[in-house]
Formats: sequence, structure tokens, C-alpha cells
Amino acid sequence: MFARAQRSIPAGVNSPVRAFRSVGGTPRFLVRGEGPYVFDADGKRYIDYVGSWGPAIAGHAHPDVVKAVQVTAVHGLSFGAPTEIEIELAETLIARLPSLELVRLVSSGTEATMSALRLARGYTGRAKIIKFEGCYHGHGDSLLVKAGSGALTFGQPSSAGVPPAVANETIVVPYNDVAAVEESFIANPDAIAAVIVEPVAGNMNLVLPATGFLEGLRTLCDRYGAVLIFDEVMTGFRVGPHGAQGRFGIKPDLTTLGKVIGGGMPVGAFGGRRDIMEEIAPLGPVYQAGTLSGNPVAVAAGLATLALTDAPGFHDALARRTRTLTEGLVAVAKRRGVAFSAQAIGGMFGLYFAELVPRSYADVMTCDTARFNRFFHAMLDAGIYFAPSAYEAGFVSAAHGEAQIRETLAAAERAFAAAS
Ligand SMILES: *Cc1c(COP(=O)(O)O)cnc(C)c1O
Repeated sequence: MFARAQRSIPAGVNSPVRAFRSVGGTPRFLVRGEGPYVFDADGKRYIDYVGSWGPAIAGHAHPDVVKAVQVTAVHGLSFGAPTEIEIELAETLIARLPSLELVRLVSSGTEATMSALRLARGYTGRAKIIKFEGCYHGHGDSLLVKAGSGALTFGQPSSAGVPPAVANETIVVPYNDVAAVEESFIANPDAIAAVIVEPVAGNMNLVLPATGFLEGLRTLCDRYGAVLIFDEVMTGFRVGPHGAQGRFGIKPDLTTLGKVIGGGMPVGAFGGRRDIMEEIAPLGPVYQAGTLSGNPVAVAAGLATLALTDAPGFHDALARRTRTLTEGLVAVAKRRGVAFSAQAIGGMFGLYFAELVPRSYADVMTCDTARFNRFFHAMLDAGIYFAPSAYEAGFVSAAHGEAQIRETLAAAERAFAAAS
């Protein structure tokens, strides 16, 4: 299948990290998912810690989600006219994130961040933005400068094809460095429209915000009249019921969402302060539109998924399970004498072949990728599917139970031996 795919699709994949280029070997072509498992075309079963890169928080093919899709699809796939189910998703998002007063649905995280940036620029009448080294905000031109995820995996954090005129409007500073943000504001008076940040960085492996970092951004944006954008495409409803903003108690001006809010279907969203959102067409002069935006079938999958996360104790159980995994892996590595660390927040985790957990992109770059690659393949052979890159966070779903964690740790005993 991989050979055939490469004849019609660049590198055989529709998103770069899927190609296994950084870990080597042949990507698994998946045919089916069920709860914590995925199954490949050879019939091999894997415990899945990718979860479609975040959306599958309830596990694969959860009956409630599948049912919602089936029931909705019967009535038509798309109308390009308003539907009631879109109101339900908008109301659900607003109820969960107190910083959202108005929200617009789109079809991907990339669309959400591109739109939020244009909105921030239109609202402020300024052109420049600040982003952080190693943060990934989708593949919009302004944001593919020193980006994370696949851009980082392939050593091209800044993409070819982005005109210098566009890239020059993007100021890149180190993650967790408030002083560098302040210097940028001082050096560019009245020019910075927005600061965009992953409130928990999950696209250069996992890097947590240092104490005072997000607060510092809030203070500086207020002082210099810039829009603070939390890109919660990954963290939204993954690190807690009210996103990273609820967890850390910081209110951004705009928020971008994706992944979990579509439950595996293409849904994104951007929203925030009413006075800013009212600049969006047709209320205001900032244009944004989408033929399939608010698609009823996709929205139904998202609503069903969010309803599952409303179960009492959902996020506590998810966080506990995820911590059991990372603490278990650290203990195994220690026994095997491998320089390794790990950490978790909510249902996402980071694994590092380094003694200490990283606090910045520079720290992440010191991790031993050759060791990671050996570990990755040993685990894959043992039926454990981690992200095929040392620069991606991992995801646990509510369908992962004690049995799957135990099986993973047993496989890790052998994989760490292979990696050392
Ligand atoms: C995945 C991701 C995006 C891009 O979303 P797509 O749906 O892949 O376009 C943007 N921001 C963050 C933080 C992400 O993790």
C-alpha cells in the first residue's frame, strides 16, 4: 500500500509526519479503530497513543459518536445554510470557556488560527504578530515561521514558499520567555497586533508553561494593546473541562479550537471577546467564510464527544490514567539505566530521552532522537503505537484502561533495553 500510495500522493501521505520519515520504516496503514486500539492492514492490533493526534479523547469509534454521525447523515450532509446543531455546539463551547462570547465554526485548526490572526490584525489595524519557537498553529503563511510538529520533525521549521514580506511580520521568541516578549513590544511600538501561544505547548513534544508565563503575556498584551490568542486546538477539553485557560485561570481575548471539538470529524472554531468578534463579516470588515463551516455531520460528532467528556470525573480519570503511564515509563527507564523523563497534563503526555523535562525548544533539541527512534520501533513491534516523531505529544483516551497501561509498561521493559 505504501508503494502504491507514493505513486499518487506526495510521500504517500496527506500530512507529513504520517510518512515515518524521521523514525524510518514503513507507516502502518490503518483499517479500523476500536476504543484504545487501532488495527493495521496486516491485521495487527496496536494500543494507540496518537488518537488521531488528539481528537479521539473518547477512544475510537465510540458508539455514541458513531450513532450521532449516522443519525445526522440520514438528513443530509451539508446545506450551506444555518442549522440548529451549530447553535448547540456554539452554546456548548461558550458555556465551557468563559472567555468566549461569540464563536464561529470552521473546518480545521489551521483555518481557526488563520482567521483569528486576520481578525486580530483587522481589529487592531496592526500587522505584526508574536509567536513562540516550536509552537505550531497550523500551516498558514504567517505561522509557519520556526514552527513545531511536522515542520520541526523535518528540520524545516520555516517553510519555503512563504514570502519574506509575510514572514517578516512574524516575530519569534523563545517559549516561556516573558522578557523577550516585552523586548519585542518595546522594539515595535504600536505595530504588534497579537501574541499567539499554545498555552501548553504540544507540538515540540510537550512543554508546560512556566509559572508566570501566561500571566505575563496577559499583562503585556493589555499594556501594549495587542490581542492575546490562546491556540487551544490541542489543549481544548484535553487538559481539562475548561481548556488550558480554565486550568491556569487566564482569560485570552481570542481562542482557537479544533481536534476534540470535532471528535474525529473536521471541525475548528475561533471565538472570544464580543467587540473583537463583531469585526467579522458580515457584522464587520474582516472577511471569513466557509462552504462546509458548521457542517452538521461533523458538528454532531463533536457534540457527542463533548457530551462524553461531561461525565462526572471524566478529566480526573483521564489525567490519572495518563500519569500512571508516564510514571510507569519513568520507573522502567530508571531500572534499565536509560536517561529518560516524562510528564503529563490532563490526557496529554511527553516522553523525553533526556534526564530532565524540557522547558523550551532549545531543551527539546537536546533529547536523544536516535534513542527515541529505536524505542519507537521496539514499541511498535510490540503493538504499541506512539507518535512517529520525537517532537510530538502523546494522547490517552477515556477508553484506555489499566490493562492497556500494564501491557504498554511490559512492552517498555524490552523496548528500553533495545533503546539503550
Ligand atoms: C493541530 C494543531 C493545529 C492545526 O490544526 P489542523 O486541524 O491540523 O489544521 C493548530 N494549532 C495547534 C496547537 C495544533 O495542535
